[in-house]
Amino acid sequence: MARVETVTGPIEADELGRTLIHEHLTSNDEAVHTQWPGAETFAPMREVAVSWNEVPDVALEAARAAVELEVRTMADPAPMFLGRDVGLMRQVSEQSGLQIVPCTGIYTYDHLPPFFANRDPDTIADLFVDDIERGVQGTDMKAAFIKCAADEPGVTENIEKVHRAAAKASVRTGAPIMAHSRPASETAPRQIEIFEEEGADLSRVQIAHTGDTDDLDYIERVLDKGVFIGMDRFGLNLFLPWEKRIPTVLELLDRGYADRMFLSADSCATIDWFPAAAAQQLAEAGLVVDWDIRMVPSKVIPALREGGMTEEQFDTMMVENPKRWLAG
Ligand SMILES: [Zn+2]
Repeated sequence: MARVETVTGPIEADELGRTLIHEHLTSNDEAVHTQWPGAETFAPMREVAVSWNEVPDVALEAARAAVELEVRTMADPAPMFLGRDVGLMRQVSEQSGLQIVPCTGIYTYDHLPPFFANRDPDTIADLFVDDIERGVQGTDMKAAFIKCAADEPGVTENIEKVHRAAAKASVRTGAPIMAHSRPASETAPRQIEIFEEEGADLSRVQIAHTGDTDDLDYIERVLDKGVFIGMDRFGLNLFLPWEKRIPTVLELLDRGYADRMFLSADSCATIDWFPAAAAQQLAEAGLVVDWDIRMVPSKVIPALREGGMTEEQFDTMMVENPKRWLAG
């Protein structure tokens, strides 16, 4: 089996172990914090705003919390616009012992800087390929997968361009794709169609956030294309409450889809999207509950076990699927 790139170097796929496929050490816009280094961000685990120089400490806290819960690896799907920083990832990995798998790509729901607006998908793919084959941000740390996103605006012209670039880079390198999706807008079918048109291997595509719906017809339509799905936002009740996420996973396990699902929380050690007061209000309203890197090992897994998930299904989702998606 192939090897998988981590920020501390390539490892055998068998060394991935128990893996959280979608957790973030940072979800902070790099442009904002480069221009205004005094601007604050929010740390959900601490439930307070933190200054920029605390970001590494908070990231380390999250990584250590995961290790304590016997998580061996996390994939961090932060590309451009979520503050990707492989130097920070390596530091956190070395200090915590958590293996961290970095990505390339662009996280946008539509906006692209002129640099990308005026370049074609092949040229954008060149940048992704460079991250995968040579290294990220001038380092020798290589990206292991490609991230793109479609959300409420749908698959706009810009989003289509990023998806085509992601697919082209995947075809050229064999790297898998993780596509953020929005079930409420049914973005996945068109996202998958673009990957298919570009000749990408759909068995190496992961449609993130599919767990934001309990519409099993929609989910099975997505699964029918041969992709993996992310049941990956436990704690974000604002998209779908916990009470609906757990039964949806259990039903899909019953229908035989253990080998196509990922469990994760999409947690962010720090996130700058909302002012602290707004983040605290979301928590108080029950819209964001226990949303941190401990969510899956400490709450989701016990709830699924109670609902009948077998040890084999657990192993498939947490150990085998990461291997097959990342290493082929
Ligand atoms: Zn995410």
